[in-house]
Amino acid sequence: LVQDRYAVFGHPIGHSKSPAIHQAFAQSTGESLRYEAILAPLDGFAESLQSFFNEGGKGANVTLPFKEQAYALCDCLSEEARLAGAVNTLSRLDDGRIKGDNTDGLGLVADLERHIGALSGKNVLLIGAGGAARGAILPLLNAGIASLTIHNRTHSKAELLAETFKAYGQVKACTLDELNHSFDIVINSTSASLSGELPNLPHEIIAAHTVCYDMMYGKDLTAFNRWASSQGAGEVIDGLGMLVGQAAKSFAIWRGVEPAVEPVLAQLRNELAVQA
Ligand code: NDP
Repeated sequence: LVQDRYAVFGHPIGHSKSPAIHQAFAQSTGESLRYEAILAPLDGFAESLQSFFNEGGKGANVTLPFKEQAYALCDCLSEEARLAGAVNTLSRLDDGRIKGDNTDGLGLVADLERHIGALSGKNVLLIGAGGAARGAILPLLNAGIASLTIHNRTHSKAELLAETFKAYGQVKACTLDELNHSFDIVINSTSASLSGELPNLPHEIIAAHTVCYDMMYGKDLTAFNRWASSQGAGEVIDGLGMLVGQAAKSFAIWRGVEPAVEPVLAQLRNELAVQA
């Protein structure tokens, strides 16, 4: 039996949870495949990927720092990937062309919907204007939210994103001073949590019904979610479900069947809890 081959490319890649996630998905859906982690040289991503596909690889995930390079070498792109300017999912089509998708934002939306139901009519604040924010915008707008407000430490980047996406829905950029009211959903897409820092934010953005989502995750509550809780947010959610959710969307693109995320998420949550 020859198994279809998939892989995740990154640098570093040692701690990637993707092989374990995809192997669990394969088991739960009864799909037969192999999924490995490949450390691509910083200056040799394209070559590394090319040899993987030449050797029969069917599809690949791409993580830091190669998502923009992956975008550049695709023959065709999904709408999400085109607007995100970044690709996390590559598929080799039957005619040999490489298609690029971006499932990060779809994973975020699926995780939010899993927690709170339909997002239609919600007023959403997105904090940050980097790659993760950019990938989230179209899926959020397509989920039927009422409005998206983007706030970023460097305001010009938020303005640029609002300009890019204004044709797709109600999107605007806000300065710190303009953040003087509460939102239904507040999403932290900044990398501040990685260093235990908190973006500078006014307490007015949080009300008792506000759901806060930090794309970052870890053993303990993130700095942002700790702050949101202390301001009385209705619910705080971390990004582990987004990670599993984006993987589920990639798996569905490749295999045509979307795996359940809950069992894998519970498993990862347990593993995080026992880590020292
Ligand atoms: P980028 O480097 O592209 O962007 C970083 C963003 O964070 C910028 O908007 C930057 O603002 C802002 N920022 C950084 N430090 C601070 C600070 N101290 N205060 C305020 N703002 C700050 O990163 P990415 O967008 O690629 O990733 C962001 C986060 O999203 C990471 O933590 C990553 O782990 C997470 N992520 C999670 C995923 C998941 O599946 N759960 C998937 C993808 C990403 P400025 O423009 O002013 O510099």
